[in-house]
Amino acid sequence: MRTLGHLPPYESEPAVPADSLTAGLTFVFVAVIIVLAVALVWALVTLRRRHLVRGSSDALKRLEELNLRSQSLVPSTAPIHHSYSVSVNTKAKFDRFDLSSRMSVNVLESELWYLQEIETRLVPTRHFRTYNHDVEAIEFGSLGRSSHPRLSDARFAAIEKKDFNRRKLAYPTPTAKVTTTVKYTSPKGQNSYSRHVDWNFEQLQQGLDAAQASRARQSTTAALRQRERSLMTSGLRVTILRRDDYRCRMCGASAADGAVLHIDHITPVSRDGLTVPENLQTLCESCNLGKSNRFIG
Ligand SMILES: [Zn+2]
Repeated sequence: MRTLGHLPPYESEPAVPADSLTAGLTFVFVAVIIVLAVALVWALVTLRRRHLVRGSSDALKRLEELNLRSQSLVPSTAPIHHSYSVSVNTKAKFDRFDLSSRMSVNVLESELWYLQEIETRLVPTRHFRTYNHDVEAIEFGSLGRSSHPRLSDARFAAIEKKDFNRRKLAYPTPTAKVTTTVKYTSPKGQNSYSRHVDWNFEQLQQGLDAAQASRARQSTTAALRQRERSLMTSGLRVTILRRDDYRCRMCGASAADGAVLHIDHITPVSRDGLTVPENLQTLCESCNLGKSNRFIG
């Protein structure tokens, strides 16, 4: 059992004399004041030097003029921002859902709007190229060529260069965030799933290009097939019927047997078959229907 008697004797810190404490605080106070004063003087000197440089730098003057002329041409632009969302009613559909194709479809549906938004953001980048060219001309032509009697050339040049770089207009980076989300919530709302893809500006441009190219391909294919079908003239029909002796090439039936004869594409037009005699044959209706679009020969 512990008693007070077993406790170690109380050790007090040696008392700090009051006047020594005051002296310490005074020292800290004075030190802080000196540091602040030095910092203030340094800031004033720096400011004064910058002012001197700005006042006599040809490069900074020319940059300021250029900036005034260019500012409105190279504004920073807001991101292209849009979100699409689709809900599906089964987990299987959710798992299979092709977000990238849906994104392409979404973007292509508002194609003109996107093209316009993209162009609005590309125009400043083109102006910026010109601006940057002019900045480089000033850099090579004037930067580091001015001086001031109260500053060494090296110091002048260092301050001038720093100020010059700080004053250049920023590149108007085009940005975008277009999102497509697919969601599924189980019947009793117990589980919710969600996936999404984001397109940035470059992806939006590429996605739009790809979607347009694929649409162009599809319409070209459709046009080619249309053309192949239109080549099937009555003259060509007669030529093929005559060549095939007015008989079905599969079963041999003729009109005399009651067969209705058709001219058939051996390789279907839908599979890029051409409307040329080598790819055409006479078939009776039943053989033709039996053949359908299946590949024979
Ligand atoms: Zn037949």
